[in-house]
Amino acid sequence: MASYVHDVIEQVKQRNPHQPEFHQTVTEVYESLGGVMDRHPEYKKAKVLERLSEPERVIMFRVPWVDDKGEVQVNKGYRIEYNSAIGPYKGGLRFHPTVNLSILKFLGFEQIFKNSLTQQWIGGGKGGSDFDPKGKSDNEVMSFCQSFMAELFRHIGPNTDVPAGDIGVGGREIGYLFGQYKKLKNEWSGVLTGKPMHSGGSLIRPEATGYGCVYFAQEMLKSKGQDFKGKKCLVSGSGNVAQYTVEKLLDLGATPISLSDSGGVIHDPAGIDREKLGWVMDLKNNKRGRISEYEKKFKGSKFMATDRNAKTNPLWAIPADCAFPSATQNEINGDDAANLLKGGVKLVSEGANMPSTPEACEQYLEAKIMYGPAKAANAGGVACSSLEMAQNASWFAWSREEVDKKLHRIMENIHAACVKAAAEYSTPGNLMDGANIAGFKKIADAMVAQGVV
Ligand code: NDP
Repeated sequence: MASYVHDVIEQVKQRNPHQPEFHQTVTEVYESLGGVMDRHPEYKKAKVLERLSEPERVIMFRVPWVDDKGEVQVNKGYRIEYNSAIGPYKGGLRFHPTVNLSILKFLGFEQIFKNSLTQQWIGGGKGGSDFDPKGKSDNEVMSFCQSFMAELFRHIGPNTDVPAGDIGVGGREIGYLFGQYKKLKNEWSGVLTGKPMHSGGSLIRPEATGYGCVYFAQEMLKSKGQDFKGKKCLVSGSGNVAQYTVEKLLDLGATPISLSDSGGVIHDPAGIDREKLGWVMDLKNNKRGRISEYEKKFKGSKFMATDRNAKTNPLWAIPADCAFPSATQNEINGDDAANLLKGGVKLVSEGANMPSTPEACEQYLEAKIMYGPAKAANAGGVACSSLEMAQNASWFAWSREEVDKKLHRIMENIHAACVKAAAEYSTPGNLMDGANIAGFKKIADAMVAQGVV
């Protein structure tokens, strides 16, 4: 069966040229599936792998808008409705200048398995634009969001496709998108998640990806009889996922010592405590400032500016016990992974999507450190989004404690499912294979049962 899987991967590469991120994720997932495919010939017969790697629908559109100077701007808009076997398409919108089809197909493909792992009824999707919200006024962001939704509204719906946030899309952007959808459809429904609280959002949704990633890491530590007390933790990024990763690490007695943005890295050996985190949240969420400002504000911390020609990121060379990459894809390469291991890191839990290159993953697995792959470790965000959908559909809001408890339970279950699938079909303890297999099986069974559609 290994050669069949290999042939499908080659076919995907040929049929989707110049999409390296998409090739990377398909290769990683499909290479985990040899054992499952051997024991389930019905998946090959139904051509599940071939169908899974082809999105059900790709929507591309023009997004014209007018900036504050009165000039017309044009951006590209996308929505990839990837797979609806187990529920409405669900996945975030990313607004970042690097957005293209390869990036969104990689994110959409990952999302299928992640959503399946949550055990909720959500299919896979992803979308976004090459629009860069950085440096834009609130008025410009609103104008862009309204134009983006003026096309997207035709394709989405609470039972069809339910987008959320991602890089560059937070509460502000979701608020504007929701307002425009409501106006165009004359309908108030749970068509977007990550909504501000006063517009039907769920408590804990902003925190969910970061909290969930730490809950997943806590399960990995528990399986070795350990906990977070006194552990030094590296966190990259300083956006939504990074901020709430730091908050939960503090709750559990760990010491987070780094943050970053595209301009560089902050290392604070004394630890980022609650007061410093509060300052970062204000800097990033309200003032929309740069992380370099941290060095001036907090004595003893050090800022290292990004060197575009450097082969490694200095963040991953800081000695620590655990690492939480929470910025973007492929932010840890093979050399960075070697530095992490050299610096004493024994646990990597991925908040960002696909933050480790294949060479980095190989090293984690070889060194047998605790490794929580993104599609399992960062599934808390989308899991909580589906809790938001459930609250919207029932016209009822749950308390903070209720949602957090459900999120915690979901993360424990995801960890258990990955452990079980790895032991059953691959190498015990290999949670990368475990996540791919556990996510895949449910989708594959649903696709076989639903016939060739
Ligand atoms: P935000 O936009 O809130 O924050 C992103 C952070 O990462 C910023 O600090 C940003 O710095 C930094 N960053 C982005 N691109 C780069 C880059 N190319 N190089 C260096 N730094 C970069 O996004 P989120 O926190 O929501 O998302 C972070 C990651 O988590 C993404 O991979 C996303 O897909 C993933 N994720 C998010 C979920 C969510 O619920 N939000 C759910 C699951 C996964 P700067 O401001 O300078 O660009």
